[in-house]
Amino acid sequence: MAELFRNFIDGAWAAASAGQTLTSTNPADPADVIGEFASSSLADAQSAIAAAHGALPAWRALAPHARGEILRKAADLLEARAAEVASAMVRENGKTIIEARGETARGVALLRYYSAEGMRSVGEVVPSVNPKTFIYTTRAPLGVVSLITPWNFPVAIPIWKLAPALVYGNTVVLKPASITPHCAVLVAQVLEAAGMPAGVFNLITGGGGVIGEELVKNLKVHGVSFTGSNSVGRRIAVWSAERGVKFQLEMGGKNPVIVLPDCDLEQAATVTMRGAFGYAGQKCTATSRAIIVGEVYDRFTELLIAKTKALKIGPGSEVTTNVPPVVSADQQRDILAAIEHGKSEAKLLCGGGVPKGEAFARGYYVEPTIFGDVPSNSKLAQDEIFGPVLSLMRARDFDEALTLANDVKFGLSASLFTRDLNAVQEYLGRMEAGIVKVNSETAGVEPQVPFGGMKESSSHSREQGRAAMDFFTSVKTVYVDRAGM
Ligand code: NDP
Repeated sequence: MAELFRNFIDGAWAAASAGQTLTSTNPADPADVIGEFASSSLADAQSAIAAAHGALPAWRALAPHARGEILRKAADLLEARAAEVASAMVRENGKTIIEARGETARGVALLRYYSAEGMRSVGEVVPSVNPKTFIYTTRAPLGVVSLITPWNFPVAIPIWKLAPALVYGNTVVLKPASITPHCAVLVAQVLEAAGMPAGVFNLITGGGGVIGEELVKNLKVHGVSFTGSNSVGRRIAVWSAERGVKFQLEMGGKNPVIVLPDCDLEQAATVTMRGAFGYAGQKCTATSRAIIVGEVYDRFTELLIAKTKALKIGPGSEVTTNVPPVVSADQQRDILAAIEHGKSEAKLLCGGGVPKGEAFARGYYVEPTIFGDVPSNSKLAQDEIFGPVLSLMRARDFDEALTLANDVKFGLSASLFTRDLNAVQEYLGRMEAGIVKVNSETAGVEPQVPFGGMKESSSHSREQGRAAMDFFTSVKTVYVDRAGM
């Protein structure tokens, strides 16, 4: 009998009101059932929002330092459970144990970082034209915020949204992806144990198609932060705009690396391979296009293929695994369909299907796949595949490489491999991406600096670091004058 997990609403664990559940399974072995989770209804979403609304006045009135203290305790508790959380993440999401440990440590770091926000300044004093008037700015919380999160970073993304939301005085309803509810339950357990007052943080699991709209349209909700697909993000934008509710969207990417002939080719090939195939390419910042300038195309391709063929595909639980299974049967089907279509558009150089052998019979595995001579107007070069698929493109010169790099609707992250400072300066100026790197992986970001994309990758606000304050608060400008004329 599978274990039953509940929603966390108003400080208590409660089953879905209609009694329905959804099942979470292991992507490396779908017969391994992790548990049954609440499949929430509209009524459950409304209860969670009402609880968050009820808890708002007292939470908002609490000293920011006291709010931060609860996050600091949560950081310590998550750290104490890090090994357990990382293993649970591997089992539910499929990623490698190395990546899962890193993500859990990231969650701890985020909670620590935002716990200290309660002690930092939130505004500025500005001189008035009238010497007797005192003007300053401060920040007000938005109110109840809904956080809708994806499966690919099932601990870190909820935490990088909820920690700033809470420390700045908002109350929260979190709805995680339906295929990774257990990770979210573990986060909720940590917050409960840290002493989060009832109703301040609420977790509801269940289908986005059933409860997602309510989490945006409910009149008690005043902010929505979403990470996921562009199609759902667009709908959230429309619903939010109709109500005048603040919203934040982090969505897809089609992230390029540009390889210049003067670079360290060994380094460029290794880092490109890691960016494309680490976590089976399921990061919004994963490398999906490599644009190679001039005569080094053949040598770079040779190095890259050799390194890719040496990667070990297997379950995330084995420390030697480089490429784990993808998260679900649906993702596997969509990635394989994109690869099949790619075969009609470009030259398949490596991979191209499900790895062969008994070891791969059960999990959702996809071979690391490389296409060569990919045209920029192809689906391979334009669509986000969100799997271990890399497109190689030729460019005559650096100028054409930059044009190709920008020739997509996305603009999340990018990297340039070179030793040429002038090329670096040109690229930093012209690259249309929210995260621009030099001689490093397109994936991999630090929590204390802004994260987000340009163009259709985001709604142009930023997450993490102090940038989170801009989304989770409103600026209040205060004028204080003396009594009497
Ligand atoms: P979705 O956008 O469908 O899911 C993200 C979150 O939105 C989940 O919590 C989901 O809930 C919820 N959701 C789904 N439908 C609605 C709705 N109508 N209203 C409100 N919320 C909703 O992404 P998928 O998980 O299906 O992944 C599909 C593709 O999205 C990937 O292949 C990838 O291209 C992209 N993606 C990008 C990510 C990124 O980091 N930028 C992360 C994940 C995906 P539920 O799980 O219950 O459906």
